[in-house]
Amino acid sequence: MNGQMMQQPLLISSLIVHAERHHADREVVSRRVEGDIHRTTYQQVAARSRQVAQALGTLGVKPGDRVATLAWNGYRHMELYFGVSGSGAVLHTVNPRLHPDQIVYIADHAEDQVLFFDMSFLPLIQAVAGRTKTVRHWVAMTDRAHMPAADVAAKIPNLLCYEDLIGAQDGRYTWPSFDENTASSLCYTSGTTGNPKGVLYSHRSTVLHTMAAALPDCLGCGAADAILPVVPMFHVNSWGIVYLAPMTGAKLVLPGPGLDGKSLYELFENEGVTISAGVPTVWQGLLSHVDANGLKFSTMRKSAIGGSACPPAMIKKFKDDYGVHVIHAWGMTEMSPIGTAAAFKAQHIGHSPEQKLAVMSTQGRAIYGVDMKIVDPDGAELPWDGQATGDLLVRGPWIISSYFRNEGGNPLVQDAQGHGWFPTGDVAKVTPEGYMVITDRSKDVIKSGGEWIGSIDLENIAMAHPAVAMAACIAAHHPKWDERPLLVVVKKPGAEVTREELISFYDGKIAKWWTPDDVVFVDAIPLGATGKMQKIKLREQFKTHVLPTT
Ligand code: AMP
Repeated sequence: MNGQMMQQPLLISSLIVHAERHHADREVVSRRVEGDIHRTTYQQVAARSRQVAQALGTLGVKPGDRVATLAWNGYRHMELYFGVSGSGAVLHTVNPRLHPDQIVYIADHAEDQVLFFDMSFLPLIQAVAGRTKTVRHWVAMTDRAHMPAADVAAKIPNLLCYEDLIGAQDGRYTWPSFDENTASSLCYTSGTTGNPKGVLYSHRSTVLHTMAAALPDCLGCGAADAILPVVPMFHVNSWGIVYLAPMTGAKLVLPGPGLDGKSLYELFENEGVTISAGVPTVWQGLLSHVDANGLKFSTMRKSAIGGSACPPAMIKKFKDDYGVHVIHAWGMTEMSPIGTAAAFKAQHIGHSPEQKLAVMSTQGRAIYGVDMKIVDPDGAELPWDGQATGDLLVRGPWIISSYFRNEGGNPLVQDAQGHGWFPTGDVAKVTPEGYMVITDRSKDVIKSGGEWIGSIDLENIAMAHPAVAMAACIAAHHPKWDERPLLVVVKKPGAEVTREELISFYDGKIAKWWTPDDVVFVDAIPLGATGKMQKIKLREQFKTHVLPTT
């Protein structure tokens, strides 16, 4: 027997429709690339999102087509979040920190039809515009007065102006209704081996993830809050915050390119921000600024930190010095991204500050919707005793089932009941209370300031040097960036090469920030039975290596 409740698909457009009707005057404040602070409301964002949807129609964008963005956190980007997905097309948020070659690869792989960009990425657009295969229109997210000069514009085929494009639409548009399993957005991750892979979210997965993210033990956001996502809208949809704010009616504050401590602090204070979210590196910058200038947070009450492990000292400092509660969270692009959050259970309330810090320093417990388990190398489930460590597997309605275009085949592992589990590539233990602690990573990637660096790309470049017999690139600890690449090299017999020569060998071949911080020369790299480099052993060997950049 079926229940007798209404059938209503969970669509992203419903979030902005709700905000327009129930929180029409609530503000969306953005620091613009033009340099000023811009203020709008959900009512206006909703209206302009409808104009975006109409404009896409005039550009020939059909449901399912991919529409790319290269943009900071700002209101125009938000209008694209709703205008593109709401119309049935797929919003592809491209990470501007990638090398132009990777951006071309990703745009071609996604078959992007239109690409919207913030003016600060104009040099990047000039580098890729003539090279992509499918992009038909390039749209500068600005007004006529700030458009590129004629000589620059001439080099970008079919360059359009965002404000002109949407200004030509009357906004009389009704959001279409369709199956909630329809693809809504696409985000490529470099946190896998080989080329970046696409993670294709659906309307249903996005709306469900947004509801879970808003829960009290996760971001805990309500209509009286003002939330500022420091985490970029090009990195897993800013952890869902640009959907969560209109869902809850919270004021949304978007920092644009101003991610330095001073700019962020100004926005926090001027806009009465109560909740924020970002990677540890950004908070370091903010805390140094606040410390150095003897400042305080007058409204901030909670900061969600994830993307890399948050040092306990940072959690303590936020609490003791500034009265800000840290929610340490863990997740991945493949998980939309939130999987766990370190909120207290009832039994922790009366605990000592040290005991509480220990709970807050874990990666947290699973939020509803996410199941997790740790397994041994044979796939057998390990106990949650706070001791046993194993590969961390997850499942749930906002967790990937396969990569875009089936790249890499079926990523899931089946259990005895036939349920698929996604192997996260993280190694973890779980306490008897269900708090998960990441202890290591089995995937071959390096995470610097919350962004991935592909170790295999770095090794391939080193191997192309005539003096290099074998090269392994591993993550070395860095106090600011958490991890930075360390290149371990075996030289060819009789060959000579210096550290400096190898480092400059990377010039122009990769994004500059991917360049290894250091090179060490060894006689041999440990190999496994199948001849694979044993990076876990190498990481152990260089655990205490001090990078010259620290
Ligand atoms: P991404 O897909 O870029 O969001 O990266 C996801 C990966 O970042 C995870 O699989 C972890 O390796 C790492 N990560 C995310 N959050 C944390 C955290 N709180 N502590 C440690 N590692 C984390």
